[in-house]
Amino acid sequence: MNERMYNSFVYDISQKEEIEEKGNEKEECLCYRELREGELSQLIDKSYSRKYISALNQTFKDFGINTCIRISHFLAQVMVESSSFRYTAENGATDADYKGYKGRGLIQITLETNYRAYELYENEINKKKNKDVVCFTGMLANKQKLERIPYSVRSAGWFFAIHSSLCLYADKNDFIYITQKINGGLNGYNERLNFLKKIVAKVIHCQEREIPTNFNFKESKAYDNSAMSFAWGVWHDDFLGKKGCNYNREEAILGYERCIELNPPDTSPNINRFELKKKFPHLLVEVKSKKIYILRNKDVAKERLKQLKRSQ
Ligand SMILES: [Zn+2]
Repeated sequence: MNERMYNSFVYDISQKEEIEEKGNEKEECLCYRELREGELSQLIDKSYSRKYISALNQTFKDFGINTCIRISHFLAQVMVESSSFRYTAENGATDADYKGYKGRGLIQITLETNYRAYELYENEINKKKNKDVVCFTGMLANKQKLERIPYSVRSAGWFFAIHSSLCLYADKNDFIYITQKINGGLNGYNERLNFLKKIVAKVIHCQEREIPTNFNFKESKAYDNSAMSFAWGVWHDDFLGKKGCNYNREEAILGYERCIELNPPDTSPNINRFELKKKFPHLLVEVKSKKIYILRNKDVAKERLKQLKRSQ
């Protein structure tokens, strides 16, 4: 072997080793492989991890929920929505409570418009694959398909990745926006956050990036949304008795002030209007053309700000 050959031989070997080393390291995290049953069972009961692991991985693959940070956010939300995978139908609610369509699937899709949008999505795929049409609307048996694998899991993947484009916000680590998109408010905020913290600290160890779990409202996409800002105020304001976050006067003020600053034109239906109307009957505004009374978020925000600042 001459010197030149020898050098190139040495060079090739070292380069190969370096690649292998990197490759093995990357094998470790969920940016490069599937979730294992042993990991899922650190979060939920073994009978559920066994039942859901393959449907979950298939959904991750089909909907591009395929990095550590995306899977972490998805699981943190699903854990709360399904009470740790125990329920795929809303407990204590009937279909009549949601105009015929109560919460179903791991992420609890509600209302006819959402059921129909999901149905349309699945059937576009079925058409391309020459598969039979699937129906989730109409009779009860159709709706109940959302309570079982694969649709209990796929509907959650669809809601997260397609309907709400939440992979994009998972990539930005925007927990506050993701929570509001899924819940419509901040119910179970602390619980969702605690699951995310547990997942990131104990179950999913990403080697590609850090996943911080302290969140700032001003850095969230929710800060640019008047209804979400209003909800941030309401849920942190002990006067309204909402449960999910810790009551905090500064955060409540921040939310209300931002809602007023964004100057929403009217009401935003993302929280229980009936409950609010009872608390602020003097703020109701009559809309004569429609013969109804409405409550404007910014009017509630203004009134609560006055009170909160007075008691400071
Ligand atoms: Zn990773």
